[in-house]
Amino acid sequence: MGRFLVVCDVDSTLIDNEVIELIADAAGTGERVADITSRAMAGELDFKESLRERVATLEGLPVSKLAGIRDRISVTTGAQDLIDAVHARGGIIAAVSGGFHETLDPLAADWGLDWWAANRFEIVDGKLTGRVLGDIVDATAKADSLRMLAARHDIPLSATIAVGDGANDLEMMAAAALGVAFCAKPIVQQRATVSITERDLRLVIPLFGA
Ligand SMILES: [Mg+2]
Repeated sequence: MGRFLVVCDVDSTLIDNEVIELIADAAGTGERVADITSRAMAGELDFKESLRERVATLEGLPVSKLAGIRDRISVTTGAQDLIDAVHARGGIIAAVSGGFHETLDPLAADWGLDWWAANRFEIVDGKLTGRVLGDIVDATAKADSLRMLAARHDIPLSATIAVGDGANDLEMMAAAALGVAFCAKPIVQQRATVSITERDLRLVIPLFGA
């Protein structure tokens, strides 16, 4: 394979958690948000609407609470190995997240990702307002990001891989040459080119040459 591009989902893919659930725990709305998240990832709810609904439950949460949430994030086994392996072979690796810049930015910088996108909380007077700023990163935005990055780096779509676990990853998986379902919801496994069922991102590495 020549130059290639790998685009990964974040929540339940590069990390073991759904960050919105960790934040909701801190806001005391954990159970409600976990229920909406699992329905959204199974493709039963519109992602944008479901995200707005979940973020609305976080209104009033002090931003200072987000620091403690970062400590509760568990990075998926093999995530750094995957990122390093892409770079060692001259590839580009990016993350597109339906989660949030506030928690993703420090991780993405640590990992050495080439590019990433996520949602951003509206914050007023040091508190979350319960609203999201700007456009929500949904399934279409994820697929658009993959196509944009491929064009920017002059990489043909035939040399792209998308890795994800949820229904909002299906569009980018369809746009990529190789759609990899990673410990994914049934609807995602059914439509993927390859399905990985063991929670180890190193299993993506042999697919670069496929
Ligand atoms: Mg996910």
